[in-house]
Amino acid sequence: NSPLTVPSLLALDRAHVWHPYGPMPGTATPYVVESAAGVRLRMAEPVGGHDELIDGMSSWWAALHGYNHPVLNEAVREQLGRMSHVMFGGLTHEPAVRLAAKLVEITPEPLQHVFLTDSGSVAVEVALKMCLQYWRSLGRPEKRRVLTWRGGYHGDTFHPMSVCDPEGGMHQLWEGVLPRQLFAGEPPTGFDAEVDPQYAAELADLVERHAGELAALIVEPIVQGAGGMRFHSPGYLRLLRELCDQHGVLLVFDEIATGFGRTGRLFAAEHANLSPDVLCLGKALTGGYLTMAATLCTGRVADGISQGEVPILAHGPTFMGNPLAAAVANASIDLLLGQDWQGEVKRLESGLLAGLAGAADAPGVKDVRVLGAIGVVQLDHQVDMAAATEAAARAGVWLRPFRDLVYTMPPYVTGDDDLARICAAVTAAAVAG
Ligand code: PLP
Repeated sequence: NSPLTVPSLLALDRAHVWHPYGPMPGTATPYVVESAAGVRLRMAEPVGGHDELIDGMSSWWAALHGYNHPVLNEAVREQLGRMSHVMFGGLTHEPAVRLAAKLVEITPEPLQHVFLTDSGSVAVEVALKMCLQYWRSLGRPEKRRVLTWRGGYHGDTFHPMSVCDPEGGMHQLWEGVLPRQLFAGEPPTGFDAEVDPQYAAELADLVERHAGELAALIVEPIVQGAGGMRFHSPGYLRLLRELCDQHGVLLVFDEIATGFGRTGRLFAAEHANLSPDVLCLGKALTGGYLTMAATLCTGRVADGISQGEVPILAHGPTFMGNPLAAAVANASIDLLLGQDWQGEVKRLESGLLAGLAGAADAPGVKDVRVLGAIGVVQLDHQVDMAAATEAAARAGVWLRPFRDLVYTMPPYVTGDDDLARICAAVTAAAVAG
């Protein structure tokens, strides 16, 4: 069990390990991370001439407080000394109960009940299951389709995949397997955009025509993440809320990417001053430490389900409510709310606006946009992922460009100098890619 050399580790990785969205055997050579602290990943061998890379990705938007944080480490250590896991069926424990109560307290009213799962995709599965079961329980089993607007991403298990953008979601591969959902056109983009009356009318018409078969409408509020890093104005969320109320459709917000302050509000729904009927959280829930997600619903949804012939929610993952994950989620939320997190996100927003402004004039750049702690450079072509990633690494930063996008979602603890380096790396990657 002596430590692996980097070449032997990579050989084993290539032979046995499936990576996200990758072929087998792997064709790309991943960078090997040895450890991480603060906003820095320490590499097993120099990458782009650097022993450490600044993480511009927060580990896929999760590591809000950076790595190896003493408070979060202590929360895990303390819980580890008591109990790392125990089944949640028939048993309960303080970390999970505290977390559920805390989530109800900090999310918009009237969200009231919490189902803890272990990944974002499963949180979306549970959300849609709740909605379908709600209508079934009320004697309306025909209401089982889900409406979304195009350009979204909600996870990689089957029901979430069925509401991902048909082009990005590999719907052609799963023809006949995925539930057939309903797609509205993409709303006009821009956080400050006025609601387009023609779009609103078309959407209203679609909802009205299909209300009899619609269980739910699901979107990522304000920011569509993995589907294309597009921003939408709060007006569109208000439109969705009105249409759902008018036509008897449950509104689901997937805040797995936007939750916990990323867009400048604790939850993106707050930009529009409203609440969905069902809310999905994940990613930053545990500060990126452990795998946990949550689905919250209102009393109305839970009561509806309870009235059914089968009055239970038939879902119960083995690792539901994992105490280590719940303990670190509690610590991460307390850490976030115990500081001026809004000031920090504002600081990052200003730094990203200033640092990325120059990228707008770079060749091949179509758009530069910033909201909260999210900075996006959109190209007028598909990015050369390898060239862009390497250019960022040469600038000392870890980025993961995709499609036509080079973007950053830095940890909130990123200092001004490191943020400037991230912005320079995003620009360099956009030019190289
Ligand atoms: N929903 C959104 C908005 C996401 O961004 C993601 C992941 O990127 C998911 C769902 C799926 O979460 P997970 O990867 O934890 O399954």
